[in-house]
Amino acid sequence: MTTVGTNRPRIGEWHGYEALRRLQDAALPAALRAAARSPFYRRRAADLPTDRAELRTTGLTTKRDLRDAYPFGLLAVDRAELATYHESSGSSGAPTSSYYTAGDWLDLAERFARKWVGIRPDDMFLVRTPYALMITGHLAHAAARMCGATVVPADNRSLAMPYSRVVRVMRDLDVTLTWSLPTDALVWAAAATAAGYRSDRDFPALRALFVGGEPLSRARRDRLAALWRAPVVEEYGATETGSLAGVCPFGRLHLWADRAVFEVYDPRTGRTGPDGRGQLVVTPLYREAMPLLRYNLEDEVEVEYRECDCGWWLPVVRVLGRTAPDCRTGGPPLTQSGLEELVFSLPAEYGVMFWRARAGHAHLRIEIEVADPHRVPAVSELTEAVGRTYDVAVDVTPVPPGTLVPTGLLTATADVMKPRGLFGADEDWDRALRYY
Ligand SMILES: [Zn+2]
Repeated sequence: MTTVGTNRPRIGEWHGYEALRRLQDAALPAALRAAARSPFYRRRAADLPTDRAELRTTGLTTKRDLRDAYPFGLLAVDRAELATYHESSGSSGAPTSSYYTAGDWLDLAERFARKWVGIRPDDMFLVRTPYALMITGHLAHAAARMCGATVVPADNRSLAMPYSRVVRVMRDLDVTLTWSLPTDALVWAAAATAAGYRSDRDFPALRALFVGGEPLSRARRDRLAALWRAPVVEEYGATETGSLAGVCPFGRLHLWADRAVFEVYDPRTGRTGPDGRGQLVVTPLYREAMPLLRYNLEDEVEVEYRECDCGWWLPVVRVLGRTAPDCRTGGPPLTQSGLEELVFSLPAEYGVMFWRARAGHAHLRIEIEVADPHRVPAVSELTEAVGRTYDVAVDVTPVPPGTLVPTGLLTATADVMKPRGLFGADEDWDRALRYY
């Protein structure tokens, strides 16, 4: 067995950013030795880094590197030591592998479990992110089990778990915690309404919504919290790394910099620094199966070292999300988060939750789902807000509820079966082997 280190820090055990740096420096040598066991890094350089100064001069590991190393090019332990194998696939469709030992899983579960509302033995925890190949469902599952909570493994890419069933389970089981995309929790609210419930009144057991996997603007977070009358606890991470940041009681997203060294890379200048705006680069400190050195996540972020009332002494990160670089505005660059902030800043009674936008060179088209009584004010207020913020020609089109998120999706029931050979005279035997 290889062991990278079992003395993993816990929040509250250090005070100040100097102390945080000392923690990183203490863990770095073992992490760098682990990387030296990886064929990928051995091939890459004769002299692998042994301390922070040398690490800083090591080339970045790119997403392309990970794809090229498919499936086991980064494996630094014996294959028998692996506990799980995962994949994510980017827009190119080429798979990116990641794999973890049982030891890695302790670090992964601990990081995910860092939720300021806590995860308790009496919690009923609905895990509503994918289990197939990706890590996200398993992360929440492992963290919940570690804390003694009851897991309701719901997945979100399974025909067995349509929205109507999510709503039924949340109510009947008194679900206290959920883990999902923020968008999914919005759709549950719509599904609850379609089932005749009020999301803010008929789910009193719900203690918090854990969300991640998408950038989340403040306005959308506040709307979600109001819709479910529960705090929304955000999380940021990737399948290749697990959880990298979580939100504190004061609403700031903090990087888990006691478990990884973070840098910010500016692709225009080619320089990296500890903070500022650019792409997030990570060197995890407690990895056995698949060590990564300066892995560029290519997510646009802003990192800041500041004091926060939470006293965690961890840098604050803002994940900026997709930009529309070709759209010429008279104001700031057009981002998905920026637009989302404006959509969700419309008065809640307008009920606008679902939208999409298409950016041209100097023109922006937005569609919003809105019911008749609120159509006129919603369109004019959003047109005004977007024009004022971005100084761009904008066309806001109202569409009836059910257009962007079909009503059938909210009310459909599960239609899954096992393979079957024998059918009755009136039954559809074309479904014999279509067991989904
Ligand atoms: Zn904080």
